[in-house]
Amino acid sequence: MSSASTDVLICGAGFGGLELATRLSEHADDFHVTLLDRNEGFVFGYSKFDVLFGHSTVDGVTLPYRDFTKPGVEFRREEVVSIDPGTKEVRTDANSYRPDILVVALGADYVPYDGHEFYSVEGAARLREVLPSIERGIVQIGVLGVPFKCPPAPWEAMFLMHDYFVERGVREAIDLRITTPMPMPIPVSPVASQAITDALDARGINYEFGHRAVPGSGEDYFIAVPLHKAPDVVQASGLTEGGADGWIHVDPTNLRTPFDGVYALGDCADAPVPRAGTLAESAARVVADDILGRLEVPYEGRGICFVEFGGGEIGIVNVEFLAGAEPRAPMAGPSQELMKHNEAFGAERRERWFGRS
Ligand SMILES: Cc1cc2nc3c(=O)[nH]c(=O)nc-3n(C[C@H](O)[C@H](O)[C@H](O)COP(=O)(O)OP(=O)(O)OC[C@H]3O[C@@H](n4cnc5c(N)ncnc54)[C@H](O)[C@@H]3O)c2cc1C
Repeated sequence: MSSASTDVLICGAGFGGLELATRLSEHADDFHVTLLDRNEGFVFGYSKFDVLFGHSTVDGVTLPYRDFTKPGVEFRREEVVSIDPGTKEVRTDANSYRPDILVVALGADYVPYDGHEFYSVEGAARLREVLPSIERGIVQIGVLGVPFKCPPAPWEAMFLMHDYFVERGVREAIDLRITTPMPMPIPVSPVASQAITDALDARGINYEFGHRAVPGSGEDYFIAVPLHKAPDVVQASGLTEGGADGWIHVDPTNLRTPFDGVYALGDCADAPVPRAGTLAESAARVVADDILGRLEVPYEGRGICFVEFGGGEIGIVNVEFLAGAEPRAPMAGPSQELMKHNEAFGAERRERWFGRS
């Protein structure tokens, strides 16, 4: 590390933190990056479906951070316990830091929910133990509030659940239901919403839009998409003051917070884009460019969202939230042919971040 290098501390090694650290590692002479996370490894959001439907285990889908080796980047497994955005001092369970540049990429947490859910990897693993015992009755997925991570995920879970029960020969005896407080499945994309609604109809899945589910309303199994919130350590830091709906306030053009040298990106920030890994990743590119002093195009809120319809079919929604006067989100598919793009998306990131095929 040269003495003139800039110290960057990235809190959170999720989609956003991993991409930012990777980008800055391409300028290892200029930056010393410390990347903090409390977990042992990274899990893609969509891998929770592999755990839920028994295609893999928690260990099988975890990409260990020890494999994240980049020039000029040091990963440390530590829990962030306090952040002072005014001084940029961050305390962890093991150290304290005062970097030149602080990036908060701690994601969104869930309001504790002690029923069935698949939004945490532990929740998916627990629900995996329950699914095989379901032979009849009402199984409902309910979105408890907005925003929530990956707007397509509840619909994908429902389609995959339909396939799972068909395969087990019990689908006829199960009433599948899904409810969301949103007016349609993916409001930014009427075309994707229509395709999802058509697919629900075709599979005989009952749905209610614009309705906030209340667990215990007659169903036999309620599976929640839990309420989301900024992590407690973020809330306690004062970073959420002035932020929309309790998230960290950022300038959406460059992801700077009101505090000098402090950025926030991904699910924990209030940029008006969906909570999704692909958006956290594009935000990380913007932060990297701003840190490097070469940001020419403001954050456009672009990303690619995959929607699994079951039966091996996938739709690809190209979202673009902040580039024009209105958000746009056209969809290709669904088709089986598009599945290879989904596989390539995961493979490229495994290779780029963890050097794995
Ligand atoms: C079921 C499901 C399916 C999904 N599918 C997709 C998909 O197909 N495509 C897509 O783009 N997105 C998908 N997502 C959403 C995606 O996972 C998130 O939006 C994305 O991970 C957000 O990135 P991030 O960097 O903001 O936060 P995260 O990836 O959540 O990273 C935050 C990191 O901070 C760490 N952390 C938190 N608090 C502390 C602390 N106090 N100390 C230290 N470390 C801490 C966490 O351990 C975590 O590693 C899905 C999500 C779910 C739940």
